[in-house]
Amino acid sequence: MIIPVIYGDGIGEDVSKAGIKVIDAALAKVGKKIEWKKVLAGEEAFEKTGEYLPSETMDAIKEYKVAIKGPLATPVGGGIRSLNVTLRQELDLFACVRPVKWFKGVPAPVKFPEKLDVVIFRENTEDVYSGIEFKEGTDDAKKVIDFFNSMGKFIREDSGVGIKPISEFGTKRIVKAAIEYAIKHNRKKVTLVHKGNIMKFTEGAFSEWGYEVAKDYDIEVNDVIADAMFQQLLLRPDEYDVIVAPNLNGDYLSDACAAQVGGLGIAPGGNINYSTGIALFEATHGTAPKYKGMDKVNPGSFILSGVMMLEHIGYNDAAEMVLKAFEKTILQKKVTYDLERQMEGATLLKCSEFADAIIENMSN
Ligand code: NAP
Repeated sequence: MIIPVIYGDGIGEDVSKAGIKVIDAALAKVGKKIEWKKVLAGEEAFEKTGEYLPSETMDAIKEYKVAIKGPLATPVGGGIRSLNVTLRQELDLFACVRPVKWFKGVPAPVKFPEKLDVVIFRENTEDVYSGIEFKEGTDDAKKVIDFFNSMGKFIREDSGVGIKPISEFGTKRIVKAAIEYAIKHNRKKVTLVHKGNIMKFTEGAFSEWGYEVAKDYDIEVNDVIADAMFQQLLLRPDEYDVIVAPNLNGDYLSDACAAQVGGLGIAPGGNINYSTGIALFEATHGTAPKYKGMDKVNPGSFILSGVMMLEHIGYNDAAEMVLKAFEKTILQKKVTYDLERQMEGATLLKCSEFADAIIENMSN
């Protein structure tokens, strides 16, 4: 099996190399193999090709369908807002899937981090992230403002304006993906999170269309208003299972949940189009440029994204082997600086040493 890999900028090289080493070791133990095909994006791509996201990279991901990436820096200036957003939009990776659970031994800010075990499905292509924005003072902003004001709405003349589209099509496909995931993984409940009490025709419609989809399935579906959901996840986390939300709230929820279990540095993610089958798994943290090349940071996010990827392609035996060895290594308190500084009696490991410790903990 050939899988394209984008190493990424900053700490990307360190975490990707460590992650690939761990995945390869697990695959070897179960008699499988992945042929990694390095593809370029970000700063390295710009240096070598003059483009941040060369078409060869997009073509490779489309051809091989499943790919994995490290973090990418957002280019300063120029036409690209964010390489991540561009990748998600151009490949129509409509589901950002973020499983969040606590790993025993990881320092967490709440009393019972083990009570949170959720999978968040964040809609990835619409909402205020669709990129339809008009800068204050421009002709376009003026036209948009005049248009709305001529319809009897009130927007101040000195406003920047952004548009929030949420479609029936976009909503139904993400809710369907979340429900089907829940059923496949024996999850009990799907919760639609929205702010429909205020934004009736976007967030409210998200909930209504979600319930329409749910009619075709035999699984419990409920809905919770977004602000209440942040409280609920702190106060009664064990009542939630699979969560599906529009783009902005899904973004906030994903990071809040990851922080709750002490896991921002080890939170995995996948961006998936369940219709085309194209899936791009990714380390969810940024490029932390100050640590570039220091072999210092935690490769956990890349490794656990690799676990998601292995499950996605059906290599469950290898996925389980990585996961178990990862858990064991953390329990042994053999960790990188980010966890070591919060754990008493921990052994400080470099990024590559943490990968080696995981590999040592793999058993047949
Ligand atoms: P960041 O790169 O995630 O770094 C913020 C801090 O998080 C780091 O200084 C470090 O904390 C900690 N951290 C991040 N990754 C870690 C790891 N693997 N192990 C241990 N600690 C880790 O966020 P940022 O500084 O806001 O963003 C830098 C660049 O990354 C920007 O260009 C941004 O656009 C980009 N970015 C890319 C992605 C992506 O590609 N998916 C996501 C987010 C941001 P300490 O300082 O406490 O050690």
